[in-house]
Amino acid sequence: MNTKRIIHLKNGKSESNQKYVIYWMQQSQRVHYNHALDHAIQLANEKDLPLLVYFGLTPNYPEANLRHYTFMLEGLKEVKDILDKFYINFVFKLESPEKGVIKYLRDAYALVMDYGYLRHQKLWRKEVLDYGIMNFDHLVIDMVDTDLIVPVKVASDKAEYGAYTLRPKIKKLYLEFRDFSKITTINNKHKLSFESDDDLSDIQKLTDKLDIDKSVAASPMYHGGYIEASKLFFDFLENKANDYINSNDPSLGLTSKMSMYLHFGQISALEIMDRMFLAINHGHLDGASFDAYIEQLLVRRELAFNYVTYQKGYDQFETMTEPWAYMTMNEHEFDKREYLYTEKQLEHYETHDIYFNAAMKEMVYTGYMHNYMRMYWAKKIIEWMPTYKDAYNTIKYLNNKYFIDGRDPNSYTGIAWCFGKHDRAWTERSVFGKLRYMNAKGLERKFNIERYVNDIENIVNNKNPIVKSKI
Ligand SMILES: Cc1cc2nc3c(=O)[nH]c(=O)nc-3n(C[C@H](O)[C@H](O)[C@H](O)COP(=O)(O)OP(=O)(O)OC[C@H]3O[C@@H](n4cnc5c(N)ncnc54)[C@H](O)[C@@H]3O)c2cc1C
Repeated sequence: MNTKRIIHLKNGKSESNQKYVIYWMQQSQRVHYNHALDHAIQLANEKDLPLLVYFGLTPNYPEANLRHYTFMLEGLKEVKDILDKFYINFVFKLESPEKGVIKYLRDAYALVMDYGYLRHQKLWRKEVLDYGIMNFDHLVIDMVDTDLIVPVKVASDKAEYGAYTLRPKIKKLYLEFRDFSKITTINNKHKLSFESDDDLSDIQKLTDKLDIDKSVAASPMYHGGYIEASKLFFDFLENKANDYINSNDPSLGLTSKMSMYLHFGQISALEIMDRMFLAINHGHLDGASFDAYIEQLLVRRELAFNYVTYQKGYDQFETMTEPWAYMTMNEHEFDKREYLYTEKQLEHYETHDIYFNAAMKEMVYTGYMHNYMRMYWAKKIIEWMPTYKDAYNTIKYLNNKYFIDGRDPNSYTGIAWCFGKHDRAWTERSVFGKLRYMNAKGLERKFNIERYVNDIENIVNNKNPIVKSKI
């Protein structure tokens, strides 16, 4: 592993009664290509101690509902099963993790945390670190950035202006971070006596008893976990990747659907990139499609993590975009809107625009939407709400409520992009000012957009799944 992934937060004074190393799994919910887990195994091996992986599940996770919990628990069940096979202890608790994990610190030699990129994740880690510093002299605490190909603070030490400023930095560094081969074997296979609150064998039973927001059903189309992610990615490589250059067209279904798995850390971006390299090295992939995919996975995604790291108010209307964008919005705040819809009308796909309605249906029903349609969908909300701030709040609310991959650095960045962030000023026009404008005619001109609408109708009526895969 490239040691630049590891942040040493606290040294420990050696003591003899340390019983295990603990890895608090939170952001990176996987075994494969998990540098934090691997680092914890290595620390355990150095002291010949067993490893404890802790996961705490709070029913109050910000903006999470049944759809998100189900997807996440499907993945965690697999994690538990794989860790069992690797002789690594796993404890699953129904409690807020920053409160729960500290109960295990007294007897631990070291605590390893994965990196959390959003505000509340950072606060959790800080709370645990502060508690460790105050109470346990002996404890080592390390944090490992494993969900990005290039660790966010190594890639850049400031907010980047756009993809064009981050790209050269990332491209210079990323090969240095192709640094995972295979998970280290744990030497001490001792079984610790900690009890989990649930064995994860029946997810439905577990979610039934959880006091969580159940207003959004689990996706009938997408299921969580590394195995599902791998199947989908295999299908992508076999049937779609070579045409990725055309993936902008929502009617073709050529994207990889990896975002939801990346969001929960169920698959690593580095593993996906390594698989792309394997495909191109074996002649299964053409260079242009490879480059186009890596641009999204590496440059665009890591730009989003740069954004939430350095833009303090990344999730508030007043602080999420550029001065030129606020200026143009101020100038056009009172422009007459041709159509006005309430949040409920939008959410219930009750607009005059069949493309918007189809996209909204896809989101509500499946928990996914194609990138081009996400842009169109958000731009229409900007056009049809009384104020830009109302539009921003509605987009964020719907995005995070329905998308399985919602509540992600990519969510806040994608939304801010619609308000000019990482974009440029365009020709001035009504309502949008200098913000980029999108319209139905563009969809009709560029794509077979009728087919997209039909596909969504078929999905909603349970006829023809949009995952055009052979699995
Ligand atoms: C208004 C709006 C809201 C968005 N909300 C979210 C969200 O909640 N969660 C989320 O993960 N993404 C969001 N995006 C970004 C993007 O639309 C999705 O990441 C992408 O559509 C996921 O589909 P895929 O995995 O099939 O992508 P693919 O085309 O297969 O791309 C592969 C991977 O590259 C990355 N990627 C692709 N497109 C982008 C992009 N535009 N920006 C950054 N990374 C990208 C993703 O990690 C993706 O999984 C949003 C974009 C917009 C414009």
